[in-house]
Order: sequence, then structure tokens, then C-alpha cells
Amino acid sequence: MTLALTGHGIADGIAIGRAHVAERSEAEIGEYRIDEQEVGKEIERFREAIAEASDQLESLGGQLGPESGTTASEIISTHVMMLHDAAFNQAIEARIGEELCNAEWALQVQLEHILSEFRHIEDSYIRSRGEDVAQVVRLVQHKLSEKTSPVELDDIPDRLADTLVVASDLTPGELATLHQRGVAGIITEHGSAYSHTAIMAGSLNIPAVLGVRLARELLQEGETLVMDGRLGLVYANPNKSLLAHYNDAQRRSARHRKALESIRELPAATLDGQKVSLQANAERSDELRAAVENGAESVGLYRTEFLFLGSDVPDEEEQFAAYSEALEILDGRTLTIRTLDLGADKSLESQSPVNTPKVANPALGLRAVRLCLRDTEMFKTQLRAVLRTSALGPVRCLIPMLTSVHEIRMVRALLDEARQELQQRGMNYDPNMPVGGMIEVPAAALAAADLARHLDFMSVGTNDLLQYALAADRVDEQVAHLYDPQHPGVIQLLQFVVNAATLRQIPLAVCGELAGDRRYVRLLLALGIREFSMHANRLLEIKQMVNQTHADRARTVLDQWRDGHAEAYDLDLLKLIEDSQQAP
Ligand code: PEP
Ligand code: MG
Repeated sequence: MTLALTGHGIADGIAIGRAHVAERSEAEIGEYRIDEQEVGKEIERFREAIAEASDQLESLGGQLGPESGTTASEIISTHVMMLHDAAFNQAIEARIGEELCNAEWALQVQLEHILSEFRHIEDSYIRSRGEDVAQVVRLVQHKLSEKTSPVELDDIPDRLADTLVVASDLTPGELATLHQRGVAGIITEHGSAYSHTAIMAGSLNIPAVLGVRLARELLQEGETLVMDGRLGLVYANPNKSLLAHYNDAQRRSARHRKALESIRELPAATLDGQKVSLQANAERSDELRAAVENGAESVGLYRTEFLFLGSDVPDEEEQFAAYSEALEILDGRTLTIRTLDLGADKSLESQSPVNTPKVANPALGLRAVRLCLRDTEMFKTQLRAVLRTSALGPVRCLIPMLTSVHEIRMVRALLDEARQELQQRGMNYDPNMPVGGMIEVPAAALAAADLARHLDFMSVGTNDLLQYALAADRVDEQVAHLYDPQHPGVIQLLQFVVNAATLRQIPLAVCGELAGDRRYVRLLLALGIREFSMHANRLLEIKQMVNQTHADRARTVLDQWRDGHAEAYDLDLLKLIEDSQQAP
């Protein structure tokens, strides 16, 4: 009988093969007391374990070939850096000395403490960084318990072609080993779509389904598995027709990947000759590199919240270093730096050095530019860093969550002050650095023609615009069905913004998730959007869609739909647009 299990699908791919259920020789983490005289020896034992763990990871990182992508080796390097984190290591050593306990236990207690902090973080990407800390701690505990196998998993065969490994979870180091041995796919019981295991599997192109509950109990050693990384499904013992379907799908997916590769160097333009600019959203350096590799014309959204995750507000030098490194990676392409967008879904709570007040309705509260206009010194520090970066290459400054012209005036006044302060210090900046605004608030969309008078460019943040327009929280699954980009109200708002940008003759992009979702590309083209900014891994697919679209036909359908939309409300606009493309 076929058994179907679900989890988080990663890396889109399909894998078919035999199951290898991997066991981990779990080290029991027990507490034992040590004498005061033994503290020095215990700390030495801890340091040796750190060094061994670090050597192991570095050698695995070194063995990853160039085809593995920068992300995989960067994740390994991140784990090596975490092993050498001075604050973390000092905390462990202090705990050994104060509590007179063994190093394994000190690590365990410190880990629980850190994980409880991470659990409060709303941003799921940042929250999942807790999984990295746990993996690194487990590696050191493993070294302390004197297990010497090259990977923590027992009995992994040397060759894993046509094998899907089923494990409790996998560290990036273990994943690197499995990759070297040619694993066909991985299934884990733990791990989220945002975990480094997930990101690394994506970078190494290993089809994966993570977070499959009880996978090791339900899947049997040696049985045939089919894994659908796109849908997050695992089938055990597939029947003939399912197997035939997936064999076929695997062939089609290989063809699709080849087709995308073949358009990597082509420009993006519709069939009726409308040129389209494809840009990337990024914050980490691996994402910036991926943007360049996948042909992004520029970076349309560089999020800066990651700099504010530590225990201190980053100073001007730290920010300048991060922005100039990003600019350097882009090698002449424009970097659009979005100023700090903390608050609501990006709240950092207990970790945050920036004080965001606790309120009943954070999404409607002091977030993004509103927060920056309260903490003006913090904001000016960021503006100076952005301005200094503009002296090194093409930089634009993007202000999130604008509501009114008054806010733009205040931002511009602070920018003037920041320029004067740099002048006094004799520092360079681009006096013409473009300043743009994100249109995310419905009132701002309706008043876009007014706002646009004071802006050099605009970018629609559809993630937030939709949540505010439809009164449907973007992270609340219970109202996800209301979060509808095809809602006539949303379409009207978008049209307002496009018309405003045309009237004021300023560039306009869409940088919300909608821009990287192939289902909506033709609708956005119909509305007149010609700049799309998205995650780098979507660029080729969206280019393929753009290059296969008649924008004028899509526009005609949209106009007809809009003219009669009271009666046509129930008609599926996307389907009408699709149908218009089929005619010869
Ligand atoms: C948006 O709201 O669409 C957007 C791009 O910004 P973020 O997702 O960072 O809020
Ligand atoms: Mg937003």
C-alpha cells in the first residue's frame, strides 16, 4: 500500500530511490559535578572540542566543489564562526566555573537559554537561526563525548546515488558529506523551510522534504520512495501509476531547468517588444551573488533589518562596511538600500536594541519610517552610511511604509542634515542619490500622485499593501484565503500607483512577493508594471514568463474586465488573461 507523508518541500526537485533510514548515536547529555581544581581542565577539554569541531567543518567546507554554490560554503563558514563566537564561549566557560558542572551540561543549559529567546521572535527566518545554534552545540557535545566518526550519522554507505536518506535532522556538515556521496534526496523529521539545512539543500540542489513527522518510524529501510520537493510530499511504496507519473514529471522538470538555463543571457522583453527590468531582493551576500549570477539588472530591494539583530544598534562604520560590501558584489549594478523596516512582523522583541513599544496593533503602530522618524539619531546614522556608500557606486535610498508627504519632507530634512554632517567631516557622497518610497499603505497608493512629486522613484510593497487593503494579516494562515491579489480593490490601488508614476514620470517597481510569482506576472504587465524585483531564485522563471507574454493583449483583457467588473466580479481575471495569450 502507498503511504503519503507531508513536510516542507525544498529545492523544487523530484527524487525517486530507495530509503536509507539513518540513525544518530545520540550522546546522552548528563550533568555531573566537577571540583573547583578541575575547572581549568574542563575548560581546556571544551576548547579542544571546539577546535576539533571547527577543523571538521572547515575540512568539509573545503571539500565542497565550485558547483556547490557559494551558499553552501557560506553556511559552513557561518557555523565555524559560531563555534568561535567569543561571547558564547565565554558564557560557557563562566558557567563551568560558576556552576562547577561538565562542559556538555553547560552547553545544554546555555542552549536552552538561547532557544527560549529565539522562540519569541516573530520573523520565521530569524527564528529558525535557533536551529543553527542547536546544531553547532550538538556538534561540540558530540566531540566532547568522544565520538570520532567523520559524520554524526552512523552507517552511511559510501555511495548514495538513488538513495534518499531519512534522518531526524541534518547539520550542514552532514549535508555536505551526503552531497559528496551523491545522495538523491533527503527527508528529515525536523527543520523548517527557513533552516540552514533547507537553504543549503537548495544551494546544493538536493531535493528535500523537511519536517516530516515520525519519518524514521513510518519509512522502512530499502523501500521505494518518491519525493516531491515542490509540494513537500513523500510517498512510500508508490503504486505503478504514481511511479509512472513521477518518472515523467522528473523528465519534464529536467527539461524545464534546461530551458531556464538557456535564457540566462537573454534580455527580458514581452512578445510585443516591451522591455522589462528584472531586479533582485536581497539581504545576505549569497543572495546578492545569486542575483548577479541569475542576471538581475540591479537590486531593487536591499533589506537592512539583519544589521539590527545584535545586542547593539550598528554604528555608521558597521553599516557602511555592510553596504559597501553589497555594492562591491553587485559590480556596477544599482543597489537600492531600504532604510530600517522594524516593527510588526519584523519585530525583534527581547533581542532588539531598538525599542519598539508593545501595542495592541503593531502593524498599525510605530513601525518602519515611523519608528525612524522618532529615533532620528539612529535614522541619521543609517542615512550617513547610505550616503557614504553612494560615493562608491550607484546607490538609491528607499523609504518603507510611507503614508504622507509630510513624512517624505521630514526624511528629506534629515537627509540634508546627514549630508551637512558628512561635509563637515570632509566625506564624500553622491549629491544626486535618488530617494524613493515604498507604497505599502492604501492611502499612500490612492495619494501616489502627490507623494510622487517628492520622490525620485517608487516601489510597491505588495506584501504589506495587500494586508492593509484587505485587512488580512500577511502571516495569519486563518485569513490567508482573503489575501487575494486579484481583488478588484487591490487592482484599483495598483492602477492608481502606475498612473501616478506615469504622470510624474518616475520609475516604478513592484518588490513584494507578487513580482516573483509567475501566476501574477501577466496581470502586473497588464497593469503597466515594467520593473519586477524578486528573490534571485525566481529571476529566470519570471524572465521566461515575461518573454512569453503579449502585454497588449493582457492589457485589453484587463480594461474589458475593469469596465464591466461589477458583473464580471466572479470571472477569473487571471484565466481571462491566460486565454488572451493563446490566440495565434
Ligand atoms: C512588501 O511589503 O511587499 C515588502 C517588499 O517589504 P517587506 O516584505 O520587507 O515588508
Ligand atoms: Mg513591507
